[in-house]
Amino acid sequence: MNDLIVIGGGVAGLVAAWQAAEAGREVTLLEARDVLGGPVSEHVLAGLELDAGTESFATRGGRVAKMLEQLGLSDAVVEPNPAGAWVGFRDAASELNSVPGSNQAVGSFRAEPLPATGLLGIPGDLDAADLLRVLDAPGLARAQRDRDLPAEVGADAASLGDLVEQRMGRTVVERLVTPVAGGVYSADPYTIQVDAVAPGLRDQLLRTGSLAAAVHHLRSQAAPGSAVRSLKGGMHVLVRRLKERIEAAGGRVITANPVRSIHALSAEQVPQSADGVRYAVETDGEAFETRSLVVATEAEAALPLLAGLAPELGEVTWPAPATVTLVTLVVDAPALDELPRGTGILIAPDAPDVVAKAMTHASAKWRWAAQAAASGHPGRHLLRLSYGHAGAPSELSDEQLRRQAVADARVITGVDFADDAVVGTAVHVWRNAQPYRESPQTDRAIDVLTAPGSGLAVVGSWRSGTGLASVMPQAYDTVRKLLNDDVATAAQTHRRD
Ligand SMILES: Cc1cc2nc3c(=O)[nH]c(=O)nc-3n(C[C@H](O)[C@H](O)[C@H](O)COP(=O)(O)OP(=O)(O)OC[C@H]3O[C@@H](n4cnc5c(N)ncnc54)[C@H](O)[C@@H]3O)c2cc1C
Repeated sequence: MNDLIVIGGGVAGLVAAWQAAEAGREVTLLEARDVLGGPVSEHVLAGLELDAGTESFATRGGRVAKMLEQLGLSDAVVEPNPAGAWVGFRDAASELNSVPGSNQAVGSFRAEPLPATGLLGIPGDLDAADLLRVLDAPGLARAQRDRDLPAEVGADAASLGDLVEQRMGRTVVERLVTPVAGGVYSADPYTIQVDAVAPGLRDQLLRTGSLAAAVHHLRSQAAPGSAVRSLKGGMHVLVRRLKERIEAAGGRVITANPVRSIHALSAEQVPQSADGVRYAVETDGEAFETRSLVVATEAEAALPLLAGLAPELGEVTWPAPATVTLVTLVVDAPALDELPRGTGILIAPDAPDVVAKAMTHASAKWRWAAQAAASGHPGRHLLRLSYGHAGAPSELSDEQLRRQAVADARVITGVDFADDAVVGTAVHVWRNAQPYRESPQTDRAIDVLTAPGSGLAVVGSWRSGTGLASVMPQAYDTVRKLLNDDVATAAQTHRRD
């Protein structure tokens, strides 16, 4: 008999298992793959240990930083280079070339520093000088009409794309919101629910009368300073530390063991001596019984498993996870020491000559990565290109993707490095960029299943929203509540006895 089983060894499951193990519970974590962490994992390239997926966490709310402190990782927290990111798009407006200080176009692909103020790419200050560089004069003039439109325009728009288009016009959507929101959510802004990604934005629009003012207001409430941080050595250091802490507290972490089904045990099936055992969990080779259960997989896996407890959840359809392909290049190109595109670039889908949707210049962004790359190899750089526009290179072979990434990196950076300057490449395809969506029907069913005394919790990005700043606090709080409820239930049972 197990005391508490966690299904899924991504960050949500690891946080849950860590909390339960340190609270004195006997924990077993079952992970389907042979590695832990989901996208928070590592790879070794040209002798460098690097993040294969997730590379940072958002600082909002301060909860991740607090957990890192509890895990003894505060000293490893690092800030990115403040140089900031750029945006790449089609150079359509000849007027812009006469704007003083405008960056020279590379062919018809143009890159400009991303305007500083904004939320998901929506400008908060329509007079900012850097906006003209990106929007062109007609695009900026249309965006500024936001000030004169009645507050109601766009206030009932369901999607982020519709809201911004109605208030500020298509150029803002195409050149700013699509690249930024696409980079964060791997989704088209016309498919992103406003309230899911920017709660309070529509209310503020009605209150302040303009979208820019609403964005400015929400921005002013965010904590100052860098919006993201990471860990020296990479975000995957977190996964290693969580596993160490679970095992140090007596927990078991079992990989390559997918759970196939769960079901509740009835009172008749559970003998008195089994001390409140409630759930049966089956993997390919083993059957477990447990008092408490935490389901911490993606929606795709969680819903069929939970259907073993509430059949209606088997009927729920969740948006398919987006596919994100990351290609990492290790390049010997001293010209990149100049950081031609700051810490990286987001790319509008209509930008010509480039297939990538974003590129992070990792050795420009993180000092530890720059030091590791250049150690013994001055001028060595790390570039991470991401692909994931619908219909884009998912059909390309790894070799084709590598060649595409090299070609894209040359256009994006404007540095024409030779083929033999590329000393390492790696391709990772991620299918679990799990979209969050509002689903009152699912919420209700899960609320019933996880009611106090049930011994059940459901955590992970499909419940919390994507990103570590959402996933980690939700897993932490949900499991702390489960542990407290279990204590209360045990006390009641004891009193009844
Ligand atoms: C490429 C990429 C880059 C990202 N970059 C960032 C970033 O820089 N910053 C940021 O904050 N967020 C980033 N994210 C998002 C963030 O990494 C995720 O939101 C977070 O890691 C999700 O954690 P999770 O535990 O909810 O899910 P997952 O990590 O997906 O964990 C679910 C786990 O359940 C396992 N599982 C599934 N089915 C079963 C089963 N039947 N039995 C047992 N185990 C099962 C899976 O194998 C997986 O390990 C990125 C995501 C991707 C894909």
